[in-house]
Amino acid sequence: MLRGRVSDRVLEAMEDTPRELFVPNRVRQMAYQDHPLPIGDGQTISAPHMVAIMCDLLDLGEGMRVLDVGTGSGYHAAVMAKLVGPEGHVYSIERVATLVAFARKNLSEAGIENVTVVEGDGSRGLPDHAPFDRINVAATAPKVPEPLQAQLKVGGKLVIPVGTCYQELLLVVRTEEGFEMEQHGGVVFVPLIGDHGFQV
Ligand code: SAM
Repeated sequence: MLRGRVSDRVLEAMEDTPRELFVPNRVRQMAYQDHPLPIGDGQTISAPHMVAIMCDLLDLGEGMRVLDVGTGSGYHAAVMAKLVGPEGHVYSIERVATLVAFARKNLSEAGIENVTVVEGDGSRGLPDHAPFDRINVAATAPKVPEPLQAQLKVGGKLVIPVGTCYQELLLVVRTEEGFEMEQHGGVVFVPLIGDHGFQV
């Protein structure tokens, strides 16, 4: 379905990342269906087509340094880790402690070594490891969080869903002059909960 719509590099990275290793046993038989699946704590692993579209928009290259906000199962981080290769690194941040443990276990079982999972509020970014070539946000925010924009390199790209009832997938590109934004259609994500996201 996605062949011809996203790059072959992205599809190969996904084919090389067994999604069944990133979902709970009770939904494993549905691992290759193209829709979100529950991973516990009211959260979901995103649908494969959404992972493909977001990776394609980010145009991830070998050796890049990536921030992933909303680790969940670790699957999206694993696909990005394949795309940046052994010289690159993905820092992935998740606010729910049980999911941090779940993702670390899944990534370890999948043999992925270039992802570091951090527990915390990803709406603040990860200043200790900034700046980043690419930032991926897998939860919807009221607006693009300023710390994430600030932690992007010039020439860097950020993909993020923004909105409440209607959510739009945005691609933000940092230029010498500022930030350019492109809209990439309606999407459905769980909320980004944090200082620069939604408050609970
Ligand atoms: N990328 C994930 C995967 O591959 O399984 C799916 C992400 S799920 C749609 C969104 C995740 O964002 C949830 O696990 C949720 O707990 C997390 N989240 C929400 N707000 C967050 C925040 N401020 N910082 C870090 N993670 C957050």
